[in-house]
Amino acid sequence: MTGISPQLLQDIEAVVGPNGIIEDEARGPGPIVRPASTQEVSRVLKLCNEAGQGVVPMGGNTTMVQGTRRVRGEIALSLERMNAIEEVDVASRTMMVEAGAILQVVQEKAVEHGFLYPLDLGGRGSATIGGNISTNAGGNRVIRYGMTRDQVLAVEAVLADGTIIPMQGKAIKNNTGYDLKHLFISGEGTLGVVTRAILRLRPLPTSENCAWVSVPSFAALTDFLGYMDAAAAGTLSSFEAMWAEYYEFITGDKTPHKPPVAYGAPFTVLLETMGSDPERDQLRFEEMLGEALEKELISDAVIAKNEAERKALWEIRDDVFQMGHVAPLWAFDISVGIADMDDYIKALKAKLTARWPDHNLFTFGHLGDGNLHVIVAVGDGSEETHHVVEELVYGGVRDLKGSVSAEHGIGLEKRGYLSFTRSPEEIALMKQMKQLFDPKGILNPGKLFMDEGTMPEMASPLNSAAE
Ligand SMILES: Cc1cc2nc3c(=O)[nH]c(=O)nc-3n(C[C@H](O)[C@H](O)[C@H](O)COP(=O)(O)OP(=O)(O)OC[C@H]3O[C@@H](n4cnc5c(N)ncnc54)[C@H](O)[C@@H]3O)c2cc1C
Repeated sequence: MTGISPQLLQDIEAVVGPNGIIEDEARGPGPIVRPASTQEVSRVLKLCNEAGQGVVPMGGNTTMVQGTRRVRGEIALSLERMNAIEEVDVASRTMMVEAGAILQVVQEKAVEHGFLYPLDLGGRGSATIGGNISTNAGGNRVIRYGMTRDQVLAVEAVLADGTIIPMQGKAIKNNTGYDLKHLFISGEGTLGVVTRAILRLRPLPTSENCAWVSVPSFAALTDFLGYMDAAAAGTLSSFEAMWAEYYEFITGDKTPHKPPVAYGAPFTVLLETMGSDPERDQLRFEEMLGEALEKELISDAVIAKNEAERKALWEIRDDVFQMGHVAPLWAFDISVGIADMDDYIKALKAKLTARWPDHNLFTFGHLGDGNLHVIVAVGDGSEETHHVVEELVYGGVRDLKGSVSAEHGIGLEKRGYLSFTRSPEEIALMKQMKQLFDPKGILNPGKLFMDEGTMPEMASPLNSAAE
């Protein structure tokens, strides 16, 4: 158990009731406080702030960067009892939800009303809207609809001292000074607890056309992306590129998946358009791929003929868990300019080969967003090896002015590398903002920034002096 004051726990229990505090080892040691309303969040935070008690906001716990890990005797503040979908406003095309609402439930509710909530990612069954907002989650359709930031019209949040920052309205346009909601979007729970949001809904597409194609070169890959984006006239919704090593592994002997297209091409792509005229959209999709074949932008294509085939293709793309077969491994979520991607991966491969000739490097990602998921399987899985691999991966990103985190956030995992992407001036300003919003540092302490409480094993040997 932790060093949390019994008196404080009693006071919190008086706010949230006996069902409002639980323990669940699967989500880490220590109490999980589960308020049922914004008012309760406010009262709990006020108590914790007065006591100087650390609090880790928790959604569906699908963080990829140890964003909810408790390392300093914090309590977790879970929004799981605040999961109501409060309103669907058909005329305004908005949905008002509590922050604990599950992404998939929100997606399904939107469909019931003839709308699309476009954010989609593999953790949809557990991830919450509050977690999506706090990480500015991306996912598979960013190329068309943008990231979570683009889906959120208003945010209600509670500051560390219990102050409730109310929601703005439903209007898309609101130019009245600093747009404070954006500080909570991607704030990783360090500036406030998101309690409610108004989400923007889009028209529900009635056609989805999906194909898996082979691409003969990286130049053809970027040309194909440009061609499809223009030819599909704004309806291209996914463009998931896979380097051959990843494609051949994920559809190989060790997995249940069969390769949709033959091996041999350096790249394959799973792409999808979403439209509103099923017959014409399908014909147009086939035409576009035919033209791309003629132009030699692609060398092979398999088109999903029905929903079952479409789902089967996406299952392959979503099944990153098969990578467990090559553990120990480290997975990275980075971005660099599209034009730099090929050289970046080639240079990384050369550096890994020089050090570990029999390593594995798997690359795939949301190409249109400049976002690559890079998986390195090498060595014994030791922390020392991990640091060397991190420095090779992130060093190249820094040189290209890319981002050490494209969509998963910083959490505990990447804070040693924040300065590879953010300037000292930016980091200083971010720390001033943290000080302003949370002067006692009770909200998600130790996340995002390296600070005096840093655990030594989390620090990067390369970077510990940099921040
Ligand atoms: C299989 C799989 C696939 C994934 N694919 C993608 C992907 O394609 N794109 C992508 O962007 N991410 C992806 N993720 C990562 C993850 O799903 C997202 O980061 C998601 O937004 C986290 O939501 P959550 O509710 O699980 O948040 P948690 O993991 O619980 O928390 C994440 C961070 O947000 C903070 N937080 C949570 N709730 C709140 C709140 N209400 N107020 C303030 N802070 C809060 C936490 O303190 C933590 O720092 C994937 C994860 C899995 C498991």
